Amino acid sequence: MVQDKMIWHYDSKGRFSTKSAYRLALTLLHPTAPGSSNSSLGCQLWKQIWFAKVPGKIKIHTWRVCSSILPTISTLQSRHVFIDNGCYFCNTNDETIEHISRDCWFVRDLFKLFPEFDRIFREVLPSMSITSWLQFCLEILSQDEFALLLVLLWSIWKERNQRLWSRKFKTLHQVYFQVRNFVQLLKSSTSRRSRGVVRPRRSWLPPPSGWLKANIDGAFNQDSHCGGIGVLIRDSTGSIVGGFCGKISNVLSPDIVEAMAGREACELAAEFQLAPIVFESDCLKLVEASKCDEEDGSGFGRIVEDIRFLLSSTPSAFFSHVFRESNLAAHKLV
Ligand SMILES: [Zn+2]
Repeated sequence: MVQDKMIWHYDSKGRFSTKSAYRLALTLLHPTAPGSSNSSLGCQLWKQIWFAKVPGKIKIHTWRVCSSILPTISTLQSRHVFIDNGCYFCNTNDETIEHISRDCWFVRDLFKLFPEFDRIFREVLPSMSITSWLQFCLEILSQDEFALLLVLLWSIWKERNQRLWSRKFKTLHQVYFQVRNFVQLLKSSTSRRSRGVVRPRRSWLPPPSGWLKANIDGAFNQDSHCGGIGVLIRDSTGSIVGGFCGKISNVLSPDIVEAMAGREACELAAEFQLAPIVFESDCLKLVEASKCDEEDGSGFGRIVEDIRFLLSSTPSAFFSHVFRESNLAAHKLV
């Protein structure tokens, strides 16, 4: 006579496994969400990735994430490549694909800056695979929000590689502004392609809640060697918090005028303790110079030195590059 025995009827062979229990948990948690075994919905995820309005390099990155072939430390260790390091953001956990893309505190804090992603962390199990999570996100996000998510995941990996290979560290908010600017640029180029010769307008983007944004600009007259500088500081609702405009004379180049506008903005922020704050300028040379420690004995360099000093004494303050169209308000002041 055959003995009675326990049967796990969620498995085709009646055997219990953590894999089948995990799938069951996912089904119970998200009855309408796709399971990894659901090929039609899996197909939908791939379709959404390939048809997302993001560059090919971001699609390929997402494909590597979903295929578990992103060379994270855990992936490399599973292939017997030993690396004695934790996560490059929190330095504590094993760097798995789920950790670097979703679970690390740095990544979670970054996600919190995007109101679009409030919903995607509800009901997420720590053991949820990245593919299941992306399928879940696909269900609840709009097309544009899903594209933003793909850009964010790619930017996180890019920042991780910068830290690993170049020892360059961006703050949470620097990554945030980079992602927002990238997506805005993407939208602009898409609409430019679809509208032919019409040059799209890149509108001003507010800073995240609790932050301020100072748009700065300078104008230079080659003949008179005079210029004008303008600074406009606004909060996350777009309300004006402060500003400055003025004329300057005896200047030698437009770069110097831009740098003087930057210094004025930094002084304003320091004097009235306006922080955290991001200074946006359309002068790439100024933005780059504010971030490095290179000595520059020119007139421009001396002003940048002042800016670096002011930035170091203001908590959470940095420069970010912006296109001229997004800097119109400051431009009108000069
Ligand atoms: Zn981490």
